[in-house]
Amino acid sequence: MAADGRGQGEAQEDDREALRALVGQLKTNLATRGRSGLLGVGLGAGPASKPRAAETVAAAPAETDAGTSLQLPGAAGLKVLRDDIGDCQRCKLAGGRTNLVFGVGNPNADLVFVGEAPGADEDARGEPFVGKAGQLLTKMIEAMGYRREDVYICNVLKCRPPGNRNPEPDEVQSCEPFLKRQLAAIRPRMIVALGKFAVQCLLRDDAPISRLRGNFRSYEGIPLMPTFHPAYLLRDPSKKKPAWEDLKSVNAALARVGVTPPNPPAT
Ligand code: URA
Repeated sequence: MAADGRGQGEAQEDDREALRALVGQLKTNLATRGRSGLLGVGLGAGPASKPRAAETVAAAPAETDAGTSLQLPGAAGLKVLRDDIGDCQRCKLAGGRTNLVFGVGNPNADLVFVGEAPGADEDARGEPFVGKAGQLLTKMIEAMGYRREDVYICNVLKCRPPGNRNPEPDEVQSCEPFLKRQLAAIRPRMIVALGKFAVQCLLRDDAPISRLRGNFRSYEGIPLMPTFHPAYLLRDPSKKKPAWEDLKSVNAALARVGVTPPNPPAT
């Protein structure tokens, strides 16, 4: 006998009925979101169809697992994602961090820069690209005609590897779903992948960065420009010129889809 006095069979049938209703609601919800482009990059919402603010507000809350949830766009999506990440203990980097470095900038940016992982300065401040390499990246962004707050900046890993060593495969595996969800929320027109780790992670291509750089590729339908990491440019300033060519190509490609920086560089 069920707690409310009904027979067990009756209670089970009620449960099944409730489950059927829930599945029906979910299907309707999915169909509605699919039509309005609220399912994120990987599920058919192209970068050309950024939702209006009203759609963002009207969207239902996303599920909260790491890699497969429905994706709200813009700031709402980033907030849900940040809440999901929480006080992350999913990989061995958690114990060594001061701050988790989520990302910074415009949640609706046309242009996203993806780096490798936070260093000591970023770990201390909780913000990506604020150390020496970050200062160079800021100059590169400004040379393109943007301010840091116009674009979005994030990393493959959200926590600092000890001694700035390279990210390890299990760390990338734990953290990559969050990067994917960040990009699905922002849905930029263009991605600049900085250095070999960001490029390898987003493109699944382990060719050397010196071969990949300068040629547009596609990440989930979004044009992606691989270029040198600013830390590498600090070590080898002779590579600044080709990196600048890459960024000029990005500006030119953005201009072709009607996106121009607020302070365009003199040509
Ligand atoms: N290098 C990176 O790849 N990311 C940062 O945030 C800082 C340095």
